[in-house]
Amino acid sequence: MERKRILITGAAGFLGSHLCDRFIKEDFYVIAMDNLITGDLRNIEHLFKLENFEFYHHDVSKFVHVPGELDYILHFASPASPIDYLKIPIQTLKVGSLGIHNLLGLAKDKNARILIASTSEVYGDPNINPQPEEYWGNVNPVGPRGVYDEAKRFQEAMTMAYHTFHGLETRIVRIFNTYGPRMRLNDGRVLPAFIGQAIRGEDLTVFGDGSQTRSFCYVDDLIEGIYRLLFSDYAYPVNIGNPDEITIREFGEEIVKLTGTTQQLITKPLPVDDPKQRRPDITKAKEILGWEPKVSRAEGLKITYEYFKSLPMDLIEKVEHKDFSNYNK
Ligand code: NAD
Ligand code: UDP
Repeated sequence: MERKRILITGAAGFLGSHLCDRFIKEDFYVIAMDNLITGDLRNIEHLFKLENFEFYHHDVSKFVHVPGELDYILHFASPASPIDYLKIPIQTLKVGSLGIHNLLGLAKDKNARILIASTSEVYGDPNINPQPEEYWGNVNPVGPRGVYDEAKRFQEAMTMAYHTFHGLETRIVRIFNTYGPRMRLNDGRVLPAFIGQAIRGEDLTVFGDGSQTRSFCYVDDLIEGIYRLLFSDYAYPVNIGNPDEITIREFGEEIVKLTGTTQQLITKPLPVDDPKQRRPDITKAKEILGWEPKVSRAEGLKITYEYFKSLPMDLIEKVEHKDFSNYNK
């Protein structure tokens, strides 16, 4: 039987690379696409030798051409951490608008089913906790996070329009904070920030008083949820995340314990519009997909810490900074 063909955008990134692994494992023909703006080829280089894997170095905000048939598209290309999207705000807006238009057009042309990566950021700084899919959010369009939040909200609207107007098969996953191996140590997100600081013997930087909450999902659980959603028949957004909520200060204390660091938690200013609370309501995922997370934070953090410790020491010490200066706005 012919292998099913799937295009994965953002394939060299944290989540994209885990998706590539999963679909290779399921014996798909995987076409990976990335412009490497925040991703890293090291995340997928183990796949290059496979006959059912190919890689296109391409910016999806420009016209996307893929020869041959496509059965599925997973659109994951987008800067994802606050540090990244604050450094490249225009590219973030472009990939969420021009990029999604290109991918939806491609899906229509190939008669492929498309799943897009949305985010809990569509809820902004939420006024209700936990957040169900029916909540419309509390987003500041002109604040620093607006470039990401509004791009993702537009992306959802565009996807629904292709679904209702063109009858395209679409799926929307709203991803809550996810962590695991292959996160970039310097992407600014709290988990790599804390673990990197602990390994380097620096104090852990808690933003604000640390009373803001997040709910962290281990990457394997997220990938399973996405896999199930793709093959479901549900076109409306579905939250995928782990409802186990924790304050950032408590989270810092957990990392201190896990790593055995003798460093302290220190306080830094809270970024503008930093959401005060975030926890997914996963009733829909449970009912529609029969999905719920299986990996506890203790287990997931242990695996992730081992991964970061296994990186070459020079990389950890230097904390390679991405150079965004060569990208056109
Ligand atoms: P990441 O930065 O590791 O991966 C994103 C990938 O997209 C990178 O490899 C980057 O080079 C690529 N990319 C960006 N712009 C591109 C463009 N114009 N053309 C081609 N490739 C481009 O981030 P991630 O955590 O893996 O996030 C992946 C997706 O999941 C994003 O859409 C993000 O918004 C979404 N998401 C992630 C989380 C999370 O907790 N990790 C939470 C919510 C949503
Ligand atoms: N945060 C922190 N110290 C850091 C990095 C982040 O206290 O060094 C906080 C940040 O202010 C936010 C939370 O941790 O309240 C999660 O931040 P992250 O960037 O990981 O994700 P997001 O804010 O997008 O959920």
